[in-house]
Amino acid sequence: MSLMQHIGRVRAFAPLFVVAGCATAAPAPHPPGGPQWGYEGATGAERWGGLSAEFAVCETGTTQSPIDLANATRADLPDLRFDYRPTPLHVENRGHTVQVEYQPGSTLMVGGTPYELLQFHFHTPAEHRLQGRELPAELHLVHRGADGGLAVVGVMIERGERNAALAPVWDHLPRNRGEERHVPTVTVHAEALLPAGRQHYRYPGSLTTPPCTEGVQWLVLDQPIQMSAEQIASLRAIIGTSNRPVQPLGARQLLLGT
Ligand SMILES: [Zn+2]
Repeated sequence: MSLMQHIGRVRAFAPLFVVAGCATAAPAPHPPGGPQWGYEGATGAERWGGLSAEFAVCETGTTQSPIDLANATRADLPDLRFDYRPTPLHVENRGHTVQVEYQPGSTLMVGGTPYELLQFHFHTPAEHRLQGRELPAELHLVHRGADGGLAVVGVMIERGERNAALAPVWDHLPRNRGEERHVPTVTVHAEALLPAGRQHYRYPGSLTTPPCTEGVQWLVLDQPIQMSAEQIASLRAIIGTSNRPVQPLGARQLLLGT
């Protein structure tokens, strides 16, 4: 989950992904949106903190994401109430992920606090681990509150049945970095992507991509959804490996509740 992905409507960031796509190009001294980063090699996740001063918290932060969702403390957590609406399909290939932009009007209530759904996107394999288990993919639904704070709902994805709710997106997956598709005659409904269960993990974390900004409220649903092996393979063929290794829990408390 990157800041660029979160603030998906800020178009000024888009050229970064075009720059990042040029594997043979020398890094520009000040590319728009920050320096290049990736998941392997010289710009891989272990080195993000040293790539730029603005990425320093990737290394120095103490509340980083993702984490292994293990040894959680049972708690009486505020209810999650999803009030999502269908949105016209607008999907972008942002280099490290495929992202569906959401039009305003879909909200998540966490207790009494509303958060507006901005976008959802994917990682392959999953970023969070479920009691040490690595799943093949993870969905992140990114929301912003009235105070600007981010709340991200993580949904783990396992291999299984073809996911019909994702079919409209998969039929229009943009294959090239920077490519985006608007298909107003097709709608996507994020609510159909959610599992039935509302049991979830909650912890304070960060963006899982540079600049690794902290202060993100993570809500990861305990029940995975399914995608077919073919759906997972076609996603991975486009975005490649896009999971940051798990980070230490440190002094944080990981809560599990309904
Ligand atoms: Zn993400």
